[in-house]
Amino acid sequence: MASPLRLRSALALVTGAGGGIGRAISVRLAAEGAAVAACDLDGAAARETVQLLGGPGTEEGAPRGAHAAFQADVSEAGAARRLLEQVQACFSRPPSVVVSCAGITRDEFLLHMSEDNWDKVIAVNLKGIFLVTQAAAQALVSSGCPGSIINISSIIGKVRLSWEEVGNMGQTNYAASKAGVIGLTQSAARELGRHGIRCNSVLPGFIRTPMTQKVPQKVLDKVTGMIPMAHMGNPEDVADVVAFLASEDSGYITGASVEVTGGLFM
Ligand code: NAP
Repeated sequence: MASPLRLRSALALVTGAGGGIGRAISVRLAAEGAAVAACDLDGAAARETVQLLGGPGTEEGAPRGAHAAFQADVSEAGAARRLLEQVQACFSRPPSVVVSCAGITRDEFLLHMSEDNWDKVIAVNLKGIFLVTQAAAQALVSSGCPGSIINISSIIGKVRLSWEEVGNMGQTNYAASKAGVIGLTQSAARELGRHGIRCNSVLPGFIRTPMTQKVPQKVLDKVTGMIPMAHMGNPEDVADVVAFLASEDSGYITGASVEVTGGLFM
């Protein structure tokens, strides 16, 4: 249940906003009063998300209401920089909430993993988060504004105190990228705390989205059997936590990795 208007002064940039979790996050942040800049590689999907937000601003990069859609490939440095410039030009301020949700899988066993599939996953899931986090932090620091940066990792990238990863068969590329997101976010939290910018990661477990639709049913059944809550999560379960981390209700939380897994791999 959303707390009405907890984010009424926020401008939230959400990447991967045309996908399952990014769309649910966009809807939730808008329901709490945020203006949303919805970005996706698929510009049409980003515009569809904006149409769900209750405001009229569906034209790319040109809000007629509270929200706007943007097309960008977050794995390209120039595109990530231009995205932040476009959002600032559009809303006359930098985003105070930045949710990096864009992500891909290219699963293969290590023995057959192609260099291309390794590079693509690292480029989107890890470098993309670096580029967006850096561009957003630069914009916030130069304008003297506080902010909340939320990076979507995965329980598959979980790093225990012993630095042992959870990992997953067929996902050497994905697990490495998601573990990298946790380290990147904690390091950014150390550097940016003095500027009033909080940085946290969210580690979803198995959530029903187009991404997990690609996973064979017998694998999903096996994983579901390991989940203490005995069912997969919904995108809204992740959005609940992101809204909390975006709001001042989490005002003294930074560098955290919050698991949204129904207890899987706790
Ligand atoms: P999804 O439905 O596939 O959404 C991902 C979105 O990211 C898609 O709209 C995709 O656009 C977009 N995207 C891909 N490459 C991009 C790029 N280079 N630049 C900008 N946008 C790009 O997947 P999801 O399940 O919602 O996943 C969202 C995030 O949660 C991902 O980071 C994922 O790794 C993470 N996660 C998901 C689960 C889960 O169980 N679903 C679990 C743990 C973590 P296209 O459709 O055009 O490619």
